[in-house]
Amino acid sequence: MKVTVCGAAGGIGQPLSLLLKLSPYVTHLALYDVVNAPGVGADINHIDTDVVVSSHLPQDDGLQMALTNADLVLIPAGVPRKPGMTRDDLFAINAGIVRDLALAVATHAPNAMVLVISNPVNSTVPIVAEVLKKAQVFNPRRLLGVTTLDLVRANTFISQLSQGKLSSKQLNVPVIGGHSGETIVPLFSIGSPEFYQSLNDEQRDALVHRVQYGGDEVVQAKKGAGSATLSMAYAGFQLAERLMKSAHGDNESAKYASSFIYLDDRIPGASYAKEKLGVDYVSLPTVIGAEGIESIDSSILDKIDEHEEELLEVAIDQLKTNIAKGVSFIKGTAA
Ligand code: ADP
Repeated sequence: MKVTVCGAAGGIGQPLSLLLKLSPYVTHLALYDVVNAPGVGADINHIDTDVVVSSHLPQDDGLQMALTNADLVLIPAGVPRKPGMTRDDLFAINAGIVRDLALAVATHAPNAMVLVISNPVNSTVPIVAEVLKKAQVFNPRRLLGVTTLDLVRANTFISQLSQGKLSSKQLNVPVIGGHSGETIVPLFSIGSPEFYQSLNDEQRDALVHRVQYGGDEVVQAKKGAGSATLSMAYAGFQLAERLMKSAHGDNESAKYASSFIYLDDRIPGASYAKEKLGVDYVSLPTVIGAEGIESIDSSILDKIDEHEEELLEVAIDQLKTNIAKGVSFIKGTAA
């Protein structure tokens, strides 16, 4: 598979590109960035795997070269979160970057699977969708907002809280909703019912809060030097690898492959979620197949406990605003 990383020289882009260079599913890795792509490419290209690496800057049709024949496009391009900034504060800058990259995808890689990492994902995924719709190349099965880091954090944090009694590798906590603050809803009642029941309200709330605001922990610890990059690259690679495995017919479903997606009626499970939640985009567990998203497990919405129902209500409320912001950025009607 040809895999293109747009924003490859960045904090997320570099470790993500490193992981892709190690993947047996990648044949060609195309690294695109507005700065330093050749440097990152030269470095990664010394690694002794058979993946062919090419580097591209905007000059000399670099973006077109990077995207042509791509099977998978990962987009971490943008500016990172600084202390005190929320993901939504990033909107003004990243929205334009993502729109322009989506336009190039529509022209040069209209059939590629697109994974959006640039924040705020709740808004940037609708931006990409609207651009692809306008260009009449939108395939809802192939556009995914990467929310995997929320699942990774949910597994890690409950494991840490259990002081090692629960192994994070064996956990599979579903996380639904969106990818920013209170829009993130971890479902510990499903992912780890026994341990979850043993927590008091205060412990439970602290655990949920840690998943929702896990990114802040990293932003603060890095003191202005960036946001979550290594764990984000790991999480983005997990989803990319899952898609690549499925494209190769290897469809084991060991973990929930949740992602933030457009609820298109043609995808089984989508109409139920849309009707129940009243949004066009949401993160839910999905079944991934050779063509991308095969179906959505919206039955999970009937299994959540009362407290999580309340969290989901708050999440959906905010999500509606975030989605509308992205859609109107392209449609030109001010939100
Ligand atoms: P993060 O920590 O989120 O990865 P960085 O700022 O470290 O944030 O990385 C973002 C990367 O995106 C930078 O390397 C930047 O040059 C790149 N970038 C910014 N605008 C564009 C664009 N229009 N196309 C491709 N890459 C871009």
